[in-house]
Amino acid sequence: MAVAEKAAQKQAQPKETTNPYESMIQRFDVAAKIIGLDEETYNILKTPQRQYVVSLPVAMDNGKVQVFEGYRIIHNTSRGPSKGGIRYALEVNQDEVKALAAWMTWKCAIADIPYGGAKGGITVDASKLSLGELERLTRAYTRAMVDVFGVDKDIPAPDVATGPREMAWIVDEFSRMQGSFQPGVVTGKPLHLGGSEGRVEATGRGVNTAALEAMRQMRLDPRKATAAVQGFGNVGSISAKYMEDAGLRIVAISDHTGAFSNSKGISIGDAIKYRNANNGVLKGFTGGKLISNEELLALDVDVLAPCALENQIRQANAADVKAQLIVEGANGPTTAGADKILQEKGIIVVPDILANGGGVTVSYMEWTQNRFGYYYAEDEINKRADRSMSRAFENVWAVGKKYKVSMRIAAYIFALEKVAKAVQSRGHY
Ligand code: GLU
Repeated sequence: MAVAEKAAQKQAQPKETTNPYESMIQRFDVAAKIIGLDEETYNILKTPQRQYVVSLPVAMDNGKVQVFEGYRIIHNTSRGPSKGGIRYALEVNQDEVKALAAWMTWKCAIADIPYGGAKGGITVDASKLSLGELERLTRAYTRAMVDVFGVDKDIPAPDVATGPREMAWIVDEFSRMQGSFQPGVVTGKPLHLGGSEGRVEATGRGVNTAALEAMRQMRLDPRKATAAVQGFGNVGSISAKYMEDAGLRIVAISDHTGAFSNSKGISIGDAIKYRNANNGVLKGFTGGKLISNEELLALDVDVLAPCALENQIRQANAADVKAQLIVEGANGPTTAGADKILQEKGIIVVPDILANGGGVTVSYMEWTQNRFGYYYAEDEINKRADRSMSRAFENVWAVGKKYKVSMRIAAYIFALEKVAKAVQSRGHY
């Protein structure tokens, strides 16, 4: 290893931050130093290309107008139109969306799909809005972004608290304003509106594929392994289901209403049924003993899959993690400060920008199907998505071996080299 590389790794213990953008930059800096990225490209990639902040007045059911804040941040479009989801959450803020947008740039490069990265969000607790209010808010956001979104420009998708229903409203509002049906402007649509087979399951399916690839490298038999899954939304519940089908015993699950453990294994099918019949939450679930979220993260399991929100594994609790393998279904669940502690403990972390790339991979297939007007069967989609995830895993694994770095830094190096090349060959004035 070159002296400069060693020096870069030595500086790798950054100060703890829970600001997702700073957390992203800390890893980006380490990767940039290792590959000797030139200053111009570094500065270009450090900051997002465009940031939109909009105010969204919405007529509420009580007759009053409430103003919400919405964001769309385009990090980079060197490799293609920008791609990334839209989240509805009270925690949504500009720095979070900036980080999530950059992570999409890296994620698309790792998944080898020809997109740049973007992310959107609205600061709102969607569970407090009526269906009509949600629809009016989504349409207001789409109108505010009509010059930003576009089939060849910027293509949103679901993220936290959004799904096919919201995507259908976006297609409709956008198409009305353009005067023609534009299904390719968003992905994650309902099947009957140009959605793709396999898209709903895609992120969870990919998380499981990534977990199995890691377990193969670690010589860990899935049929003898246990797992704890944090988060029981689209990503967590479907990841857990696929892992269960692969033979893992899922001994704990959780959502924001509670965590549940059962050393004999939790039936994920039953948990999904319970959640669906219980307003979408696990509260009151009897398939396991009630524990805290912190206890779930510290369980003595083989695999830990954080599939909820950012900053779950931090400097303060990283030493308590007993899993041998962490597979990040969520974006940014581990702080940069926790990375080093996990690495010192010998824990393999399959990072978010690799592990949850299955979603955007099938989004890409949805978009190409919309453009072709020809639709593939589910087994075809799944086969391609599985192959793509395995290849991405192998690529990152190989970079990790080459530079003797964690999979996290390897993923950043792999992505950065690819995006930097696109930036440099396109040129800038
Ligand atoms: N929101 C998802 C993610 O974070 C999916 C993005 C997409 O499909 O464009 O990867």
